[in-house]
Amino acid sequence: MKLILDNLAGFCMGVRNAVEKVTSELEKHPLIYIHGDIIHNPQTISRLKKKGLISYKDFNEVPAKSCVAIRTHGIPYDEYVSIKNHASSIVNLCCSRVTKIQSIIKKAGLTNSHVIICGYHDHPEVKSLQSYASNGVTVIKHPDEIDLVPPADKLLMISQTTFDEELFYKISISAKSQFGNSIDIINTVCRATHDRQKNLISLLTKNRVTKLIVIGGHQSSNTKRLADIGKSRKIATYHIEELAEFELNTVANDDTIVVTAGASTPDYIINEVINALNEL
Ligand code: SF4
Repeated sequence: MKLILDNLAGFCMGVRNAVEKVTSELEKHPLIYIHGDIIHNPQTISRLKKKGLISYKDFNEVPAKSCVAIRTHGIPYDEYVSIKNHASSIVNLCCSRVTKIQSIIKKAGLTNSHVIICGYHDHPEVKSLQSYASNGVTVIKHPDEIDLVPPADKLLMISQTTFDEELFYKISISAKSQFGNSIDIINTVCRATHDRQKNLISLLTKNRVTKLIVIGGHQSSNTKRLADIGKSRKIATYHIEELAEFELNTVANDDTIVVTAGASTPDYIINEVINALNEL
């Protein structure tokens, strides 16, 4: 059996910063409140929960004068205002790459541009980005959905940071042919996402891979995109959150296995999988 570890597997810069920062802030504050999940990795969430990180669904649940963290992929703008007015302190964990897109969208409002976000409606980052558009916003995830965009003199199209880059290019081509010079297109797929997808495609192209193991949260958008890359190439793909979800007895002697992981998967979970496979 041949085992290939994707050298880009695991935490991206934004997730590493967020986890390190909140871990250190939890030494100063006994409790820190955060909207939803800090990252899409249940094992990391449960570890931080034990240290005092409390997740809320609605800001009204948070006691007055609490310490509140802003999650990695941002929150809606009106919630940010409530936090500023009611929290005793704020721990900003929002990734600088997401903050940059929020600024691009805010600027688009100054030129009365309608914003198109290539992404998924229910993703926290998209909910946050939508809230910064002051002249209308449409979320699409496929070239066929370009017809959902209402008539506008000026348009700006950007992407969720973890969107599939190949799909973004396809939507861009449709958008350009439909709107011509009235649309500005900025590829805001995060470098970390771009590099991971590109690296995995290269590994799958250069090797005769029989199995792909993608480690990461089942709700993690960037992890799901990595698994999609394997499935679209008809490679037996296993999207697992941890070692227990993979049947080691399915590994055959002549297998070539690539192991990769999403940007929110901690090293220790990747190492557990690699060690178990090495022992075979
Ligand atoms: S994937 Fe990119 S945008 Fe998201 S947290 Fe990581 S570095 Fe930031």
